[in-house]
Amino acid sequence: MEGSILITGGTGYIGSHTSLKLLNAGYEIIILDNLSNSCLEVKDRIKKLANKGFQFINGDIRNTNQLKSIFKDKKINAVIHFAGLKAVADSAIYPLEYYENNVVGSLNLFKEMASANIKSLVFSSSATVYGNPGMPICKENTPLNPVNVYGKTKLIIEDILRNIKKADPEWRIINLRYFNPVGAHPSGMIGEDPKGTPNNLMPLISQIAIGRRKKLLVFGDNYNTPDGTGRRDYIHIEDVANAHVASLEKILKGDVLHMDINLGTGKPYSVLEVIKTFESVSLKKIPYEITKRRAGDLAEYYADPSLAKNILNWKAKFDLRKMCLDSWNWQSKNPSGFIN
Ligand code: NAD
Ligand code: UDP
Repeated sequence: MEGSILITGGTGYIGSHTSLKLLNAGYEIIILDNLSNSCLEVKDRIKKLANKGFQFINGDIRNTNQLKSIFKDKKINAVIHFAGLKAVADSAIYPLEYYENNVVGSLNLFKEMASANIKSLVFSSSATVYGNPGMPICKENTPLNPVNVYGKTKLIIEDILRNIKKADPEWRIINLRYFNPVGAHPSGMIGEDPKGTPNNLMPLISQIAIGRRKKLLVFGDNYNTPDGTGRRDYIHIEDVANAHVASLEKILKGDVLHMDINLGTGKPYSVLEVIKTFESVSLKKIPYEITKRRAGDLAEYYADPSLAKNILNWKAKFDLRKMCLDSWNWQSKNPSGFIN
């Protein structure tokens, strides 16, 4: 196929794994990333793993002129849009930055795509859009009611996409709602490397295992779950990346016109199960202390992944053990994360 796939946020955690899969699948890619939450070194590692080059543009989705010139100079067939800010707690402290970066940035991107007549898009949404759905299993038609600013930015973008599609049927959009992506590429060359203190469970556990942090605070053990700790639908990053390749194929072929699709395994695990599994693969003790619940946390939620199976012919392959194994492989080979 002539032309490239533009990947915004492609040096980030999910973007880097997806970029590698796309290169391996034979696509030409262009990564656009402002490196606000990733490192330039990721680019070289992707190239090395793929044994293939690609263009990297240090740029920002809020920069209209830059987008205009990218779409004018390059032949782009589709966009996979990962770029965004994603820390739930920060989004309450910096709402303006979150709305600006996520909503205004996305709007800018979609406007320039429309002007350039590029109307194929895979968008990174989040299970956060479901908010507190009242029952643990989330189907794509579960009502959307995000309870934090981050989730609200994702819902606004989803709504914008619904409106765009309604006004212009030529658009082809797959909106992926990720549950809890974890793990790393099995080579240990790329992985999740949060800047500052991690917000999420798996990077915290990995950093404790490598000795960068002392202990984990477990946020509550009195939930209505089998062991009392919160349960989530963790999904291996390689499964997530594969689902993007499948989604891209569907929209490029025109098989899917507009769809919201959950990406999860459908099988939740508790905090204590994650700790135990990580300990067994790393042979490291993870010291932890039970503390009070984190504000806004739910006891459990997980995906109904059946639509992804039916539409994308995709199903998560990897279990919790493999997720922990690859997280540990990445962390132990890169104790301080990416260097540059
Ligand atoms: P990440 O922070 O590792 O990657 C996002 C990338 O976007 C970073 O490299 C960052 O530098 C870049 N970026 C941010 N703002 C930008 C801008 N204005 N212009 C250009 N580049 C910009 O995050 P991730 O975990 O890879 O997440 C990717 C997407 O998936 C995000 O939109 C996130 O909200 C969504 N998501 C992530 C998770 C998760 O648990 N990781 C869950 C649900 C949804
Ligand atoms: N969690 C925890 N201690 C931490 C971070 C997370 O006990 O330091 C728990 C959290 O309460 C939830 C699970 O681990 O039950 C996953 O949390 P994460 O923030 O990774 O994902 P989210 O809650 O956003 O789905």
